[in-house]
Amino acid sequence: MSAFERHAGVLHVESVSLSDLANEFGTPCWVYSRQAIETALDEFQQELLGHDALVCYAVKANSNLAVLDVLARRGAGFDIVSEGELRRVLAAGADPRRIVFSGVGKSVSAMELALRTGILCFNVESAAELERLNAVAAQQGTTAPVSLRVNPDVDARTHPYISTGLKENKFGVAYDEARTLYRRAAELSHLRLCGIDCHIGSQLLDAAPFSEALDKLLHLIDQLAEDGIALEHIDLGGGLGIRYRDEEAPTIKAYLHPLLDKLKDRRLRILLEPGRRLVGNAGLLLTRVDYLKPGEIKNFAIVDAAMNDLARPALYGSWHTIVPVVERQGTADTWEIVGPICESGDFLGRDRPLVLATGDLLAILSAGAYGMAMSSNYNTRPRAAEVMVDGRQSYLVRRRESFDELFNLERRLP
Ligand SMILES: *Cc1c(COP(=O)(O)O)cnc(C)c1O
Repeated sequence: MSAFERHAGVLHVESVSLSDLANEFGTPCWVYSRQAIETALDEFQQELLGHDALVCYAVKANSNLAVLDVLARRGAGFDIVSEGELRRVLAAGADPRRIVFSGVGKSVSAMELALRTGILCFNVESAAELERLNAVAAQQGTTAPVSLRVNPDVDARTHPYISTGLKENKFGVAYDEARTLYRRAAELSHLRLCGIDCHIGSQLLDAAPFSEALDKLLHLIDQLAEDGIALEHIDLGGGLGIRYRDEEAPTIKAYLHPLLDKLKDRRLRILLEPGRRLVGNAGLLLTRVDYLKPGEIKNFAIVDAAMNDLARPALYGSWHTIVPVVERQGTADTWEIVGPICESGDFLGRDRPLVLATGDLLAILSAGAYGMAMSSNYNTRPRAAEVMVDGRQSYLVRRRESFDELFNLERRLP
């Protein structure tokens, strides 16, 4: 059963009506379904049964403590990209032995904390980072577990802003240089080489590039074995897509089966770093229509959510399905669903056939990933509240920001 269904015409999240949530918590408001998050994780874990595998949720997709908690309780690990995310996952009760640390620009202080915490692995992205990590580990008198993020130069066939596995991207070390770099790393006294990783892009709707990347990594693993470098794990990153509109995203089985098949005769632990696939379809942004502004060329519905809340349409031209919480009878007009921000790019949906009246509630679907996580205070707008629904219960998991909080870090000149 989907966590998002209509009962008596009103859209619900699990057993809670979105009209009730709007009354209780106000709008705009992010709403997540615990059941949907757990179901998404279960799908991965079911498919991985019998394998030595760990699903490390990519925290940047949605880093709310309640989301992390739900995933941690079901055995997920975490893929972090900053000291802030490290502190978050620790606050959410994560097991340090299930944390991998990705990102091209790890700071010294982030490395120090991660080493003291005892994380599973650093996914290192450059020669310079290897040297720095070795020095930081030496200073602490410890050894850093290391994987090199290799850029397999495969085309993920996704949006250029979220494609990361091509030679021209800033991520990872070049495939042709990886072997040399591993040899260099093996000589550094305070590093322990334990794995290899890649992450080729996001919102992939085709499973083939994952297989191509795996083939390249396995070839490299064999070369490294000749050099006497034995790795314990292979981390295939995240990137599996979801349906926003009518996309046919691969099933978890179609995604994992070819990969597990290639790995079956190898004694390698498998790590995955899904973000969007675990939380994207598990959340929505609830908003209210503030003004209707019909025009000669376009009709605008101005809602109380905006690009500072959900940046993806403005940033990537992304589509999010937008549905009324309570359906109205009547003939649909075509609407531009826009926010109140002073930018023409501030739209949430274009050309949407809807029957609308001022005050109506709208649900912007599939907003659980890269929604709140990418939000800002642009136009001095407080960040929206976040609510987690669990069956008949709803929990405020981040209260709406107050206006005071928006400028109380600032000072006028003396
Ligand atoms: C963003 C990111 C992910 C998650 O990507 P999704 O498309 O959300 O699955 C995983 N690993 C790394 C290194 C990332 O940067």
